[in-house]
Amino acid sequence: CGIYGVYSPTEDVSEMTYLGLFALQHRGQESAGIALTDGDWIDVKKGMGLVSEVFREQLPRLDNAKIAIGHVRYATTGFSLAANAQPLRVNYAGGALALAHNGDLTNAALIRRDLESKGTVFQTTIDTEVFVHLIARSQKPSVEERILEAVSVVRGAFCLSIMTEDKLIGVRDPQGFRPLCIGRTPDGGWVLSSETCALDVNGAEFVRDVLPGEMVVMDSDGLKSYRFSNGKDVASCIFEYIYFARPDSIIDGQSVHAARFEMGRVLARESGFRGDVVISVPDSGTTAATGFSYEAGIPFAEGLIKNRYIGRTFIQPTQKQRDAAVKLKLSPVRSVVAGKSVIMVDDSIVRGTTSGKIVRLLRNAGAREIHVCISSPPITDPCYYGIDTSVRKELISATKSVDEICSFIGADSLHFISIDGLRQCVSALNPDHMCYACFNNKYPVPEEDAELDEDDK
Ligand code: 5GP
Ligand code: SF4
Ligand code: MG
Repeated sequence: CGIYGVYSPTEDVSEMTYLGLFALQHRGQESAGIALTDGDWIDVKKGMGLVSEVFREQLPRLDNAKIAIGHVRYATTGFSLAANAQPLRVNYAGGALALAHNGDLTNAALIRRDLESKGTVFQTTIDTEVFVHLIARSQKPSVEERILEAVSVVRGAFCLSIMTEDKLIGVRDPQGFRPLCIGRTPDGGWVLSSETCALDVNGAEFVRDVLPGEMVVMDSDGLKSYRFSNGKDVASCIFEYIYFARPDSIIDGQSVHAARFEMGRVLARESGFRGDVVISVPDSGTTAATGFSYEAGIPFAEGLIKNRYIGRTFIQPTQKQRDAAVKLKLSPVRSVVAGKSVIMVDDSIVRGTTSGKIVRLLRNAGAREIHVCISSPPITDPCYYGIDTSVRKELISATKSVDEICSFIGADSLHFISIDGLRQCVSALNPDHMCYACFNNKYPVPEEDAELDEDDK
């Protein structure tokens, strides 16, 4: 998911949030929503679909609104339903608030069961709703203390953009799994954004990342920071750099583009693959493919053209939808691949659907040899922190070896980047403070909900 927030004394916060969400659309395409306040009342508009679809007719409007938050959703917990769209809004004894969440919690089902046994009625099936109830039930006097109490109970991945009638609040979990940054607008206002790529669009200047285990509160008095962890448990998601984030974003000081380019260079060295041309599976494989080309001295060319009017194929919820989408999405350029030994670079093989189909497309277009390079290690384990690779039986690398996958997708050879190779690609970060769990089964935070019966989840 993607989250956004704006506090601006003079600008149109609804419009700014809309533009920010537009720039974060790659983080989720199932639903979108904006909440805003004029200081008295919080209004929310949300719906299924792309940002441009949900707000086609009009943006939510309130006179003199100074704060807004927004969300784009990619379903990892809870079904793809309108009721599960965010931001969530509540009224409670201390006032009103709206909240948007990116990440998955590892103990939400346990907390939910506990709250339900005490009489709390849940309106959605998303784990985000536990925050709302924990904040509302807290006996603490201030909203800041209520939120800090809630985050002390909840575990797993959470970046939050929260709005009260007079404050914009950002929270990032102690591991810092997902990104969250702060920007400053020219009128002295503030922006919260999942990624830096959504700051420019509002003329906001990057200030800094929200730190893992930090809550920032922005209001007419400026910005206040509260720390709720000692910073020792940082485990930010390597997959943001491999695939999820936009290449023009900088997360925790590491350029996503630079990381992906390095992944391509490492792939060229590790695989030793040589051929006539390097192509990518656009768009997510392109930066790594250019790195491969640079390192190996083999020209890069556009061997596959992507239909620009289709969203990310993986994110379509059912296998049937995904199957149809791949065919519509990509087509080969005969003059680039016919008769050639082709090196094809992509970011990941999850279920194996995409790669198998593309290899077939390239063969039909006359490619002589197809060598596939993947800029993530084999995904062998589910993610519990907000990337939808969580159905283990569907992960091809969980059950097949590299050789078996190579023949399954019909390639001449196949190489996945190593974890060691990957660690070299994020030189601006401490590679020990990253999560690689979906590749090595070393989970920084245990999945506690797994202990519940399936029906309870
Ligand atoms: P597969 O067809 O093997 O299941 O999916 C791999 C393709 O899905 C890659 O080209 C990758 O770019 C794309 N993809 C889209 N969304 C995601 C995601 O959230 N996670 C992963 N691992 N791959 C994704
Ligand atoms: Fe990222 Fe994988 Fe860790 Fe999930 S398990 S947070 S996708 S590195
Ligand atoms: Mg892709």
